[in-house]
Amino acid sequence: MQLIDGKSLANKVQASVATQVEELKREKNIVPGLAVILIGDDPASHAYVKMKAKACEKVGFYSITHNMPDTISQDEIIATIEMMNNNPRIDGILVQLPLPKHVDTDKILEVIDPKKDVDGFHAYNMGRLVTNLDSFVACTPLGVMKMFEEYNIDLEGKDVCVVGASNIVGKPMASLLLNANATVTITHIFTKDLKAHTSQADIIVVGVGVPGLIKEDMVKEGAIVIDIGINRMEDGSLVGDVDFKNVSSKCSYITPVPGGVGPMTIAMLLSNTVKAAKGRI
Ligand code: NAD
Repeated sequence: MQLIDGKSLANKVQASVATQVEELKREKNIVPGLAVILIGDDPASHAYVKMKAKACEKVGFYSITHNMPDTISQDEIIATIEMMNNNPRIDGILVQLPLPKHVDTDKILEVIDPKKDVDGFHAYNMGRLVTNLDSFVACTPLGVMKMFEEYNIDLEGKDVCVVGASNIVGKPMASLLLNANATVTITHIFTKDLKAHTSQADIIVVGVGVPGLIKEDMVKEGAIVIDIGINRMEDGSLVGDVDFKNVSSKCSYITPVPGGVGPMTIAMLLSNTVKAAKGRI
């Protein structure tokens, strides 16, 4: 069994982004800029945004955070996004999810200029991803693809079971895998017999938010298991969606939680933002 080390790969991606930022500054006088819109006071969202701002600073980005109360109106959020769409110093716009209940998330995401949609959640970018055209791709699934590349894991013809079918994780993940010529099965909460699908798979990619969902008897000997889930337990510890203790010995490769997919998400956000900044040239 080999652990896939997301932390060191994320550091490698960040170092590459920092080099690209230096080049952009030196040769084109461009400083990549990221705007984060954070609404309400959900502690997890605040923690994520803080981590993102720190990462931006580390690689030399210009970054701003619009911190708004959860009583803010949808129109005010839209006005802020439009301001960022028109701000030439801003290359990437990220709206931290989840949004308060009175706000229509789909509508908000549609307002972001697709060229600045570094989270890859806009329907324009999702459509381009499905049709295998160059696009901004959601950071978490993109980070998983980077892991496969780094560890020379060939996807062509492989049976891959994606567990979880959200717009931000499962669906873009499945599209990326299909574009890489894998045979993809997408499973979700209404799947009748999850085990029947996972136990056949060469590769399982799970992102649902249920601790320990993937158990030993659901995984084939030698399978590759990628755990996107992040679940905070009562004792404060973080666990994934895989029963790591019992599953890991069966796997050829597995990602730990923490230290697996998590760090890759921020690294790919930086990578997407530098890509957006290059769009200025
Ligand atoms: P979501 O709630 O939007 O979607 C969950 C998906 O899982 C749905 O498609 C649902 O049908 C499916 N699901 C739920 N219970 C299931 C079950 N028992 N069996 C099979 N399928 C089931 O969640 P999300 O935003 O996609 O996030 C999923 C998980 O990934 C969460 O734990 C989240 O914290 C984590 N996540 C991690 C990162 C990262 O950086 N590593 C990024 C985003 C999300």
